[in-house]
Amino acid sequence: MGKRIHNFNAGPAALPLSVLDEIQEELLDFKGSGMSILEVSHRSKWFDDVMNEAVERTKRLLNLGNGYRVLFVQGGASLQFCMIPMNLSLGGRPVDYINTGTWSTKAIKEAKVQGKDVREIASSEDRNFSYIPKDFQVDGDAAYLHFTSNNTIKGTQWAQFPDSGDIPLICDMSSDIMSHSFDVSPFGLIYAGAQKNIGPSGTAIVIIRKDMLERVPENLPAMLKYTTFAEKDSMFNTPACFVIYTISLVLKWLEETVGGLETMERINREKGAVIYDFIDQSDFYTGTADKDSRSLMNVTFRLPDEMLEKKFVEETLKEGMGGLKGHRSVGGCRASIYNATSIDAVKALVEFMGEFQRKQG
Ligand SMILES: *Cc1c(COP(=O)(O)O)cnc(C)c1O
Repeated sequence: MGKRIHNFNAGPAALPLSVLDEIQEELLDFKGSGMSILEVSHRSKWFDDVMNEAVERTKRLLNLGNGYRVLFVQGGASLQFCMIPMNLSLGGRPVDYINTGTWSTKAIKEAKVQGKDVREIASSEDRNFSYIPKDFQVDGDAAYLHFTSNNTIKGTQWAQFPDSGDIPLICDMSSDIMSHSFDVSPFGLIYAGAQKNIGPSGTAIVIIRKDMLERVPENLPAMLKYTTFAEKDSMFNTPACFVIYTISLVLKWLEETVGGLETMERINREKGAVIYDFIDQSDFYTGTADKDSRSLMNVTFRLPDEMLEKKFVEETLKEGMGGLKGHRSVGGCRASIYNATSIDAVKALVEFMGEFQRKQG
């Protein structure tokens, strides 16, 4: 086997090594089928079991009960930006959005392009999205309130979800789904592109409360209606079989190896403390997000100047650490430390950061 790096990629991102091993082990002969999972029919018993496992594990991990459906929809999180207003805006009712960065901005744009009555009830754009807004009013006539739980590019995360009263919350959890436990009951819909925290790219997981399905207009194209995916158990057409299979293995790892989302959250908090405590005592590295808004998934930071940032990224690559360059729209550095990134990887990074600082000083 070639040498594996410490992977700090923002997405697609690190997967648990045991999951990759499991894929490799059963690749040529999936469960006695004599075929790989890449080759079996999506209408076969083999794939049925995979789909059921992915759905049931999601329900158990998030404590969903019977009030929610778990769907897999191609098109990534970006197609959800479009499907949500299209399916759930209840005709003419206003739709409310909180703007906390690049992905929220895109979600808002996709609602506006459809002519929806979009209200941006809060935004942190005034300080380059470096914080999570606190003071805002949720209006009772909104069809829903949309927000982004973790801002992958800006490195901020909601520590406490917004209180929307009776208005259903809709959340883009692409980059922190399954990283901690939370109460799902205020949520009408949760979605996530798989490629940050739960699998490879190619599908979004959509968790929809059953009453929300009643909002879906009849006269939409089949592939753009949540009801199509619900009625056909995400198999109206050929689903992203390999992606869903990998998700089922990652969720098995979360349940059986990690031991559930409370433990995962504790580990993620430990990882976050290792790197943020280091940044806070350093006068060389500066975190870009307000302390009370920091993300436990994407740690964004700057060095004293851009030359040093470039050098830093180059040297991390030589040290077997990948993905530390900040998003092209913001610059700086970013360490994405999703579920599958171990505390040892974080410690190795922090050790390197210390050495790099000493060499420059
Ligand atoms: C990556 C990301 C997206 C885009 O996901 P795609 O699956 O590529 O469409 C949307 N929202 C957030 C928060 C993300 O991190």
